[in-house]
Amino acid sequence: KVTTKEDVLKRIEEEGIDYIRIEFLDYAGVTRARTIRKEFIAGAMESGVNFSAAIMDFTMFDTYVPNPLYGTDSGDFFAMPDPETFVVLPHRRKTARMYCDLVDENGNPWAGCPRSILKKLLKEAEDIMGGKLFMVYEQEAYLLKEENGNLVPADNSACFSSDGLDEQEEFVQKFIESMAEMGLETEQMSSEFGPGQVEINLKYDQCLKATDDQVTFRQLFKHLARDMGMVGTLAPKPFDNLPGSGLHIHISMFDEKQNLFKDLNDSRGLDLSDKAYHFIGGILHHGKALSAIGAPTMNSYKRMIPGSWAPAHICYGAGNRSVLVRVLEPRRERRFEYRGADGTCNPYLLSAALVAAGLHGVRQRMDPGVPLEQDAGTLSNQELEALGIEWVPRNLKEALEHLSKDTILAESIGRDIWQEFIKVKNEEWNQHHNRVDEWERKLYAKIY
Ligand code: GLU
Ligand code: MG
Ligand code: MG
Repeated sequence: KVTTKEDVLKRIEEEGIDYIRIEFLDYAGVTRARTIRKEFIAGAMESGVNFSAAIMDFTMFDTYVPNPLYGTDSGDFFAMPDPETFVVLPHRRKTARMYCDLVDENGNPWAGCPRSILKKLLKEAEDIMGGKLFMVYEQEAYLLKEENGNLVPADNSACFSSDGLDEQEEFVQKFIESMAEMGLETEQMSSEFGPGQVEINLKYDQCLKATDDQVTFRQLFKHLARDMGMVGTLAPKPFDNLPGSGLHIHISMFDEKQNLFKDLNDSRGLDLSDKAYHFIGGILHHGKALSAIGAPTMNSYKRMIPGSWAPAHICYGAGNRSVLVRVLEPRRERRFEYRGADGTCNPYLLSAALVAAGLHGVRQRMDPGVPLEQDAGTLSNQELEALGIEWVPRNLKEALEHLSKDTILAESIGRDIWQEFIKVKNEEWNQHHNRVDEWERKLYAKIY
Protein backbone atom coordinates (compact mmCIF):
# COMPACT_ATOMS: atom_id res chain seq x y z
CA LYS A 1 0.00 0.00 0.00
CA VAL A 2 1.26 3.48 -0.86
CA THR A 3 0.89 5.94 2.02
CA THR A 4 4.04 8.07 2.16
CA LYS A 5 6.28 10.07 -0.14
CA GLU A 6 8.90 7.32 0.17
CA ASP A 7 6.36 4.70 -0.96
CA VAL A 8 5.57 6.85 -4.00
CA LEU A 9 9.25 7.26 -4.94
CA LYS A 10 9.75 3.52 -4.59
CA ARG A 11 6.78 2.72 -6.84
CA ILE A 12 7.98 5.24 -9.43
CA GLU A 13 11.29 3.38 -9.67
CA GLU A 14 9.70 -0.08 -9.67
CA GLU A 15 7.19 0.77 -12.38
CA GLY A 16 9.55 2.78 -14.59
CA ILE A 17 7.43 5.93 -14.31
CA ASP A 18 8.77 9.17 -15.79
CA TYR A 19 5.73 11.42 -15.59
CA ILE A 20 3.39 12.01 -12.67
CA ARG A 21 0.10 13.75 -13.23
CA ILE A 22 -1.18 15.64 -10.25
CA GLU A 23 -4.90 16.33 -10.46
CA PHE A 24 -7.78 18.09 -8.72
CA LEU A 25 -11.24 19.26 -9.76
CA ASP A 26 -12.43 22.80 -10.37
CA TYR A 27 -15.84 23.88 -9.05
CA ALA A 28 -17.55 22.83 -12.27
CA GLY A 29 -16.10 19.35 -11.75
CA VAL A 30 -13.53 19.52 -14.56
CA THR A 31 -10.24 17.80 -13.78
CA ARG A 32 -7.30 20.21 -13.74
CA ALA A 33 -3.80 18.77 -13.91
CA ARG A 34 -0.10 19.28 -14.31
CA THR A 35 2.52 16.74 -15.27
CA ILE A 36 5.61 16.62 -13.05
CA ARG A 37 8.83 14.95 -14.17
CA LYS A 38 9.88 12.21 -11.80
CA GLU A 39 13.01 14.09 -10.72
CA PHE A 40 10.82 16.83 -9.28
CA ILE A 41 8.03 14.86 -7.64
CA ALA A 42 9.69 14.63 -4.22
CA GLY A 43 9.87 18.44 -4.04
CA ALA A 44 6.31 18.76 -5.29
CA MET A 45 5.10 16.44 -2.53
CA GLU A 46 6.90 18.48 0.12
CA SER A 47 5.77 21.96 -0.79
CA GLY A 48 2.84 21.42 -3.16
CA VAL A 49 2.50 22.75 -6.70
CA ASN A 50 1.17 26.26 -7.13
CA PHE A 51 -1.84 27.21 -9.23
CA SER A 52 -3.75 30.45 -9.60
CA ALA A 53 -7.01 30.40 -7.64
CA ALA A 54 -8.64 31.51 -10.90
CA ILE A 55 -8.30 27.92 -12.14
CA MET A 56 -11.21 26.92 -9.91
CA ASP A 57 -13.60 29.06 -11.99
CA PHE A 58 -12.04 28.36 -15.38
CA THR A 59 -14.80 26.25 -16.86
CA MET A 60 -17.14 29.24 -17.06
CA PHE A 61 -14.50 31.96 -17.02
CA ASP A 62 -11.61 31.06 -19.25
CA THR A 63 -8.96 33.60 -20.16
CA TYR A 64 -11.11 34.99 -22.95
CA VAL A 65 -13.91 36.09 -20.65
CA PRO A 66 -13.41 39.57 -19.25
CA ASN A 67 -13.87 39.99 -15.49
CA PRO A 68 -13.58 36.43 -14.30
CA LEU A 69 -14.70 35.90 -10.73
CA TYR A 70 -11.37 34.80 -9.41
CA GLY A 71 -9.29 37.35 -11.34
CA THR A 72 -5.60 37.72 -12.07
CA ASP A 73 -5.20 39.08 -8.54
CA SER A 74 -6.87 36.23 -6.67
CA GLY A 75 -3.64 34.63 -5.48
CA ASP A 76 -2.41 31.05 -5.47
CA PHE A 77 -3.09 27.79 -3.76
CA PHE A 78 -0.86 24.73 -3.68
CA ALA A 79 -1.88 21.29 -4.88
CA MET A 80 -0.56 18.68 -2.45
CA PRO A 81 -0.56 15.16 -3.93
CA ASP A 82 -2.14 12.48 -1.72
CA PRO A 83 0.17 9.42 -1.81
CA GLU A 84 -2.76 7.08 -1.18
CA THR A 85 -4.22 7.98 -4.57
CA PHE A 86 -1.07 7.00 -6.49
CA VAL A 87 -1.84 4.74 -9.45
CA VAL A 88 -0.05 3.88 -12.67
CA LEU A 89 -2.29 4.95 -15.55
CA PRO A 90 -3.03 2.14 -17.98
CA HIS A 91 -2.99 3.27 -21.66
CA ARG A 92 -0.62 6.13 -20.88
CA ARG A 93 3.13 5.89 -21.38
CA LYS A 94 5.25 5.75 -18.20
CA THR A 95 2.65 7.87 -16.42
CA ALA A 96 1.24 7.72 -12.92
CA ARG A 97 -1.38 9.87 -11.26
CA MET A 98 -2.12 11.33 -7.83
CA TYR A 99 -5.13 13.35 -6.67
CA CYS A 100 -4.42 16.44 -4.62
CA ASP A 101 -5.69 18.36 -1.63
CA LEU A 102 -5.40 22.10 -1.99
CA VAL A 103 -3.48 23.97 0.72
CA ASP A 104 -2.55 27.60 1.38
CA GLU A 105 1.00 28.98 1.56
CA ASN A 106 1.29 27.79 5.18
CA GLY A 107 0.30 24.26 4.30
CA ASN A 108 -3.15 24.52 5.90
CA PRO A 109 -6.23 23.34 4.01
CA TRP A 110 -7.22 26.03 1.49
CA ALA A 111 -10.78 27.24 2.14
CA GLY A 112 -11.70 26.55 -1.48
CA CYS A 113 -10.82 22.84 -1.47
CA PRO A 114 -13.86 20.50 -1.64
CA ARG A 115 -11.76 17.35 -1.05
CA SER A 116 -10.44 18.75 2.24
CA ILE A 117 -13.94 19.79 3.31
CA LEU A 118 -15.18 16.29 2.59
CA LYS A 119 -12.47 14.81 4.82
CA LYS A 120 -13.42 17.17 7.63
CA LEU A 121 -17.12 16.29 7.34
CA LEU A 122 -16.37 12.56 7.30
CA LYS A 123 -14.51 12.93 10.54
CA GLU A 124 -17.50 14.77 12.00
CA ALA A 125 -19.85 12.04 10.77
CA GLU A 126 -17.74 9.39 12.47
CA ASP A 127 -17.72 11.30 15.76
CA ILE A 128 -21.45 11.91 15.72
CA MET A 129 -22.71 8.63 14.31
CA GLY A 130 -20.11 6.20 15.62
CA GLY A 131 -19.33 4.53 12.29
CA LYS A 132 -17.87 5.09 8.87
CA LEU A 133 -19.86 6.21 5.85
CA PHE A 134 -19.54 4.11 2.72
CA MET A 135 -20.61 5.07 -0.76
CA VAL A 136 -20.54 3.98 -4.33
CA TYR A 137 -21.19 6.25 -7.28
CA GLU A 138 -23.36 4.42 -9.80
CA GLN A 139 -22.90 6.14 -13.15
CA GLU A 140 -24.83 5.72 -16.37
CA ALA A 141 -23.25 6.92 -19.59
CA TYR A 142 -23.57 6.87 -23.37
CA LEU A 143 -21.11 5.62 -25.95
CA LEU A 144 -21.48 7.69 -29.11
CA LYS A 145 -19.98 7.71 -32.57
CA GLU A 146 -19.73 10.44 -35.15
CA GLU A 147 -21.92 10.02 -38.23
CA ASN A 148 -22.11 12.74 -40.91
CA GLY A 149 -20.88 15.31 -38.44
CA ASN A 150 -23.49 14.32 -35.82
CA LEU A 151 -23.03 12.39 -32.61
CA VAL A 152 -25.28 9.32 -32.49
CA PRO A 153 -25.46 6.30 -30.15
CA ALA A 154 -22.68 3.83 -30.88
CA ASP A 155 -25.06 0.86 -30.98
CA ASN A 156 -28.74 0.05 -31.15
CA SER A 157 -29.12 -2.26 -28.19
CA ALA A 158 -32.10 -2.69 -25.91
CA CYS A 159 -32.09 -2.36 -22.14
CA PHE A 160 -30.38 -5.23 -20.29
CA SER A 161 -30.03 -7.03 -23.60
CA SER A 162 -27.41 -9.62 -24.17
CA ASP A 163 -26.90 -8.18 -27.67
CA GLY A 164 -26.10 -4.84 -26.11
CA LEU A 165 -23.38 -6.44 -24.02
CA ASP A 166 -21.96 -8.09 -27.13
CA GLU A 167 -21.87 -4.85 -29.08
CA GLN A 168 -19.87 -3.01 -26.46
CA GLU A 169 -17.95 -6.01 -25.19
CA GLU A 170 -14.56 -4.78 -26.33
CA PHE A 171 -14.99 -1.40 -24.66
CA VAL A 172 -16.57 -2.73 -21.49
CA GLN A 173 -13.98 -5.46 -20.96
CA LYS A 174 -11.08 -3.08 -21.57
CA PHE A 175 -12.71 -0.67 -19.14
CA ILE A 176 -13.07 -3.30 -16.43
CA GLU A 177 -9.52 -4.53 -16.92
CA SER A 178 -8.07 -1.03 -16.80
CA MET A 179 -10.05 -0.27 -13.66
CA ALA A 180 -8.65 -3.47 -12.14
CA GLU A 181 -5.10 -2.41 -13.05
CA MET A 182 -5.78 0.73 -11.02
CA GLY A 183 -7.05 -1.35 -8.11
CA LEU A 184 -10.75 -0.66 -8.65
CA GLU A 185 -13.10 -3.57 -8.55
CA THR A 186 -16.05 -3.74 -10.94
CA GLU A 187 -19.06 -5.78 -9.81
CA GLN A 188 -21.25 -5.82 -12.89
CA MET A 189 -22.17 -4.05 -16.09
CA SER A 190 -25.36 -3.75 -18.05
CA SER A 191 -26.68 -2.31 -21.23
CA GLU A 192 -28.97 0.51 -19.97
CA PHE A 193 -32.29 1.75 -21.40
CA GLY A 194 -30.96 3.87 -24.23
CA PRO A 195 -29.12 2.58 -27.31
CA GLY A 196 -25.39 2.95 -26.64
CA GLN A 197 -26.12 3.57 -22.95
CA VAL A 198 -24.20 1.51 -20.39
CA GLU A 199 -23.95 1.18 -16.66
CA ILE A 200 -20.84 -0.21 -15.01
CA ASN A 201 -21.02 -0.77 -11.26
CA LEU A 202 -18.05 -0.55 -8.95
CA LYS A 203 -17.74 -2.04 -5.50
CA TYR A 204 -18.61 0.29 -2.62
CA ASP A 205 -15.87 1.72 -0.43
CA GLN A 206 -15.24 4.32 2.26
CA CYS A 207 -16.68 7.63 1.20
CA LEU A 208 -13.47 9.49 0.25
CA LYS A 209 -12.15 6.54 -1.75
CA ALA A 210 -15.52 6.06 -3.46
CA THR A 211 -15.51 9.73 -4.43
CA ASP A 212 -11.96 9.52 -5.81
CA ASP A 213 -13.07 6.40 -7.67
CA GLN A 214 -15.87 8.28 -9.40
CA VAL A 215 -13.31 10.79 -10.72
CA THR A 216 -11.19 7.89 -11.97
CA PHE A 217 -14.23 6.21 -13.51
CA ARG A 218 -15.31 9.15 -15.57
CA GLN A 219 -11.82 10.01 -16.76
CA LEU A 220 -11.18 6.47 -17.88
CA PHE A 221 -14.61 6.26 -19.51
CA LYS A 222 -13.92 9.30 -21.65
CA HIS A 223 -10.26 8.50 -22.35
CA LEU A 224 -10.89 4.91 -23.35
CA ALA A 225 -13.86 5.78 -25.57
CA ARG A 226 -11.69 8.36 -27.32
CA ASP A 227 -8.85 5.85 -27.73
CA MET A 228 -11.35 3.51 -29.38
CA GLY A 229 -12.72 6.12 -31.78
CA MET A 230 -15.93 6.84 -29.85
CA VAL A 231 -17.18 9.63 -27.64
CA GLY A 232 -18.00 8.59 -24.09
CA THR A 233 -20.34 11.01 -22.37
CA LEU A 234 -21.80 11.33 -18.90
CA ALA A 235 -23.95 14.28 -19.98
CA PRO A 236 -27.31 13.88 -18.20
CA LYS A 237 -29.51 14.22 -21.27
CA PRO A 238 -27.60 14.03 -24.55
CA PHE A 239 -30.74 13.43 -26.68
CA ASP A 240 -34.24 14.77 -26.09
CA ASN A 241 -35.95 11.53 -27.10
CA LEU A 242 -33.72 9.04 -25.23
CA PRO A 243 -33.39 8.26 -21.52
CA GLY A 244 -31.02 10.39 -19.50
CA SER A 245 -27.89 9.25 -17.72
CA GLY A 246 -28.19 9.41 -13.97
CA LEU A 247 -25.65 9.17 -11.21
CA HIS A 248 -26.99 7.39 -8.16
CA ILE A 249 -25.01 7.62 -4.94
CA HIS A 250 -25.45 4.63 -2.65
CA ILE A 251 -24.92 5.42 1.00
CA SER A 252 -24.39 3.02 3.90
CA MET A 253 -22.75 3.10 7.30
CA PHE A 254 -20.87 0.50 9.33
CA ASP A 255 -18.94 0.26 12.55
CA GLU A 256 -16.55 -2.66 13.19
CA LYS A 257 -19.43 -5.00 13.87
CA GLN A 258 -22.55 -3.99 12.01
CA ASN A 259 -24.53 -2.06 9.46
CA LEU A 260 -25.69 1.03 11.35
CA PHE A 261 -28.48 1.73 8.86
CA LYS A 262 -30.16 -1.61 9.53
CA ASP A 263 -32.83 -2.41 12.11
CA LEU A 264 -34.97 -5.49 11.67
CA ASN A 265 -37.53 -4.14 14.16
CA ASP A 266 -38.30 -1.08 12.05
CA SER A 267 -42.02 -0.27 12.46
CA ARG A 268 -42.15 1.30 8.98
CA GLY A 269 -41.24 -2.06 7.50
CA LEU A 270 -38.12 -1.03 5.58
CA ASP A 271 -35.67 -2.58 8.06
CA LEU A 272 -33.95 0.78 8.48
CA SER A 273 -32.53 2.24 11.70
CA ASP A 274 -33.44 5.65 13.15
CA LYS A 275 -30.01 6.91 12.07
CA ALA A 276 -30.84 6.00 8.47
CA TYR A 277 -34.25 7.71 8.63
CA HIS A 278 -32.74 10.87 10.11
CA PHE A 279 -30.02 10.90 7.46
CA ILE A 280 -32.65 10.54 4.72
CA GLY A 281 -34.69 13.24 6.46
CA GLY A 282 -31.72 15.60 6.18
CA ILE A 283 -31.24 14.86 2.49
CA LEU A 284 -34.93 15.52 1.77
CA HIS A 285 -34.87 18.68 3.91
CA HIS A 286 -31.96 20.07 1.83
CA GLY A 287 -33.24 18.42 -1.36
CA LYS A 288 -33.69 21.57 -3.42
CA ALA A 289 -30.32 23.08 -2.55
CA LEU A 290 -28.55 19.73 -3.03
CA SER A 291 -29.93 19.68 -6.54
CA ALA A 292 -27.73 22.66 -7.49
CA ILE A 293 -24.66 20.66 -6.45
CA GLY A 294 -25.62 17.20 -7.74
CA ALA A 295 -27.27 18.40 -10.94
CA PRO A 296 -25.35 21.58 -11.68
CA THR A 297 -25.79 22.20 -15.42
CA MET A 298 -28.49 23.49 -17.76
CA ASN A 299 -28.70 20.00 -19.22
CA SER A 300 -29.22 18.37 -15.81
CA TYR A 301 -32.82 19.56 -15.52
CA LYS A 302 -33.86 18.04 -18.83
CA ARG A 303 -33.25 14.64 -17.27
CA MET A 304 -35.39 15.01 -14.17
CA ILE A 305 -38.89 14.88 -15.60
CA PRO A 306 -41.96 13.17 -14.11
CA GLY A 307 -42.73 9.77 -15.53
CA SER A 308 -39.07 9.05 -16.28
CA TRP A 309 -36.82 6.96 -14.06
CA ALA A 310 -35.12 10.10 -12.88
CA PRO A 311 -36.59 11.84 -9.82
CA ALA A 312 -38.77 14.92 -10.25
CA HIS A 313 -40.09 14.98 -6.68
CA ILE A 314 -38.53 15.24 -3.24
CA CYS A 315 -39.60 12.06 -1.48
CA TYR A 316 -38.29 8.64 -0.59
CA GLY A 317 -39.46 5.06 -0.89
CA ALA A 318 -38.45 1.49 -1.57
CA GLY A 319 -38.82 -0.32 -4.86
CA ASN A 320 -39.96 2.94 -6.49
CA ARG A 321 -37.68 4.64 -8.99
CA SER A 322 -39.47 7.99 -9.14
CA VAL A 323 -38.20 9.03 -5.71
CA LEU A 324 -35.19 11.17 -4.82
CA VAL A 325 -33.96 8.69 -2.21
CA ARG A 326 -34.61 5.03 -2.88
CA VAL A 327 -34.19 2.34 -0.21
CA LEU A 328 -32.72 -0.73 -1.84
CA GLU A 329 -33.68 -4.35 -1.95
CA PRO A 330 -32.50 -6.86 -0.86
CA ARG A 331 -33.11 -5.99 2.73
CA ARG A 332 -30.19 -7.99 4.06
CA GLU A 333 -27.94 -5.08 3.05
CA ARG A 334 -29.66 -1.93 4.17
CA ARG A 335 -28.62 1.08 2.15
CA PHE A 336 -30.22 3.79 0.08
CA GLU A 337 -29.37 5.70 -3.07
CA TYR A 338 -29.64 9.41 -3.79
CA ARG A 339 -30.91 9.57 -7.39
CA GLY A 340 -30.84 13.33 -7.93
CA ALA A 341 -27.30 13.65 -9.31
CA ASP A 342 -25.64 13.30 -12.70
CA GLY A 343 -22.14 13.04 -14.14
CA THR A 344 -21.66 16.81 -14.47
CA CYS A 345 -21.23 17.29 -10.73
CA ASN A 346 -18.04 17.80 -8.76
CA PRO A 347 -18.14 14.53 -6.77
CA TYR A 348 -16.18 15.95 -3.81
CA LEU A 349 -18.68 18.77 -3.46
CA LEU A 350 -21.57 16.38 -3.80
CA SER A 351 -20.29 13.86 -1.25
CA ALA A 352 -19.56 16.72 1.14
CA ALA A 353 -23.03 18.23 0.68
CA LEU A 354 -24.77 14.86 1.09
CA VAL A 355 -22.85 14.17 4.30
CA ALA A 356 -23.59 17.68 5.57
CA ALA A 357 -27.31 17.33 4.82
CA GLY A 358 -27.46 13.85 6.36
CA LEU A 359 -25.65 15.00 9.50
CA HIS A 360 -28.02 17.91 9.88
CA GLY A 361 -30.85 15.40 9.74
CA VAL A 362 -29.19 13.19 12.35
CA ARG A 363 -28.47 16.10 14.70
CA GLN A 364 -32.06 17.36 14.45
CA ARG A 365 -33.58 13.88 14.33
CA MET A 366 -35.46 14.76 11.13
CA ASP A 367 -38.29 12.45 10.19
CA PRO A 368 -38.64 11.82 6.44
CA GLY A 369 -42.31 10.85 6.87
CA VAL A 370 -44.05 7.96 5.20
CA PRO A 371 -42.28 6.25 2.28
CA LEU A 372 -44.02 6.78 -1.05
CA GLU A 373 -45.06 3.58 -2.75
CA GLN A 374 -46.47 4.81 -6.05
CA ASP A 375 -44.89 6.70 -8.96
CA ALA A 376 -44.70 10.33 -7.82
CA GLY A 377 -45.08 11.42 -11.45
CA THR A 378 -48.68 10.15 -11.53
CA LEU A 379 -49.83 12.22 -8.53
CA SER A 380 -51.84 15.41 -9.05
CA ASN A 381 -50.68 18.68 -7.52
CA GLN A 382 -53.39 18.36 -4.85
CA GLU A 383 -52.24 14.85 -3.98
CA LEU A 384 -48.63 15.98 -3.81
CA GLU A 385 -49.59 18.86 -1.56
CA ALA A 386 -51.59 16.59 0.74
CA LEU A 387 -48.55 14.32 1.06
CA GLY A 388 -46.22 17.29 1.57
CA ILE A 389 -44.15 16.34 -1.46
CA GLU A 390 -42.41 19.12 -3.37
CA TRP A 391 -40.86 19.24 -6.82
CA VAL A 392 -37.15 18.98 -7.48
CA PRO A 393 -36.17 22.43 -8.88
CA ARG A 394 -37.18 22.68 -12.54
CA ASN A 395 -34.03 24.42 -13.70
CA LEU A 396 -30.55 25.45 -12.63
CA LYS A 397 -31.58 28.98 -11.67
CA GLU A 398 -34.24 27.74 -9.27
CA ALA A 399 -31.83 25.24 -7.72
CA LEU A 400 -29.19 27.95 -7.26
CA GLU A 401 -31.71 30.19 -5.53
CA HIS A 402 -32.36 27.42 -3.01
CA LEU A 403 -28.65 26.85 -2.49
CA SER A 404 -28.17 30.61 -1.96
CA LYS A 405 -30.66 30.49 0.91
CA ASP A 406 -29.28 27.33 2.52
CA THR A 407 -27.09 28.69 5.29
CA ILE A 408 -26.61 25.26 6.89
CA LEU A 409 -25.04 23.88 3.71
CA ALA A 410 -23.07 27.10 3.27
CA GLU A 411 -21.51 26.74 6.71
CA SER A 412 -20.85 23.02 6.21
CA ILE A 413 -19.13 23.16 2.84
CA GLY A 414 -17.58 26.53 3.67
CA ARG A 415 -18.68 30.01 2.61
CA ASP A 416 -15.83 30.39 0.09
CA ILE A 417 -16.73 27.33 -1.94
CA TRP A 418 -20.46 27.95 -1.61
CA GLN A 419 -20.23 31.54 -2.81
CA GLU A 420 -17.81 30.83 -5.65
CA PHE A 421 -19.77 27.80 -6.84
CA ILE A 422 -22.98 29.84 -7.00
CA LYS A 423 -21.21 32.59 -8.96
CA VAL A 424 -19.76 30.16 -11.50
CA LYS A 425 -23.08 28.44 -11.99
CA ASN A 426 -25.07 31.67 -12.26
CA GLU A 427 -22.70 32.65 -15.05
CA GLU A 428 -23.51 29.37 -16.78
CA TRP A 429 -27.20 30.14 -16.49
CA ASN A 430 -26.69 33.67 -17.82
CA GLN A 431 -24.62 32.59 -20.79
CA HIS A 432 -27.30 30.10 -21.79
CA HIS A 433 -30.17 32.45 -21.05
CA ASN A 434 -28.73 35.23 -23.22
CA ARG A 435 -28.70 32.99 -26.26
CA VAL A 436 -31.47 32.48 -28.82
CA ASP A 437 -31.55 28.90 -30.03
CA GLU A 438 -32.86 27.27 -33.18
CA TRP A 439 -36.07 26.03 -31.53
CA GLU A 440 -36.98 29.56 -30.44
CA ARG A 441 -36.09 31.10 -33.78
CA LYS A 442 -38.18 28.58 -35.69
CA LEU A 443 -41.18 28.82 -33.42
CA TYR A 444 -41.37 32.52 -32.61
CA ALA A 445 -40.03 34.06 -35.81
CA LYS A 446 -42.60 32.09 -37.72
CA ILE A 447 -45.78 32.51 -35.71
CA TYR A 448 -45.37 36.03 -34.29
N1 GLU B 1 -31.59 6.54 -16.24
C1 GLU B 1 -32.28 6.81 -15.01
C2 GLU B 1 -31.79 8.11 -14.39
O1 GLU B 1 -31.59 9.01 -15.14
C3 GLU B 1 -32.15 5.68 -14.01
C4 GLU B 1 -32.48 4.30 -14.50
C5 GLU B 1 -32.20 3.25 -13.41
O2 GLU B 1 -32.87 3.29 -12.37
O3 GLU B 1 -31.28 2.46 -13.59
O4 GLU B 1 -31.61 8.28 -13.21
MG1 MG C 1 -29.33 2.30 -14.11
MG1 MG D 1 -29.48 2.90 -9.14
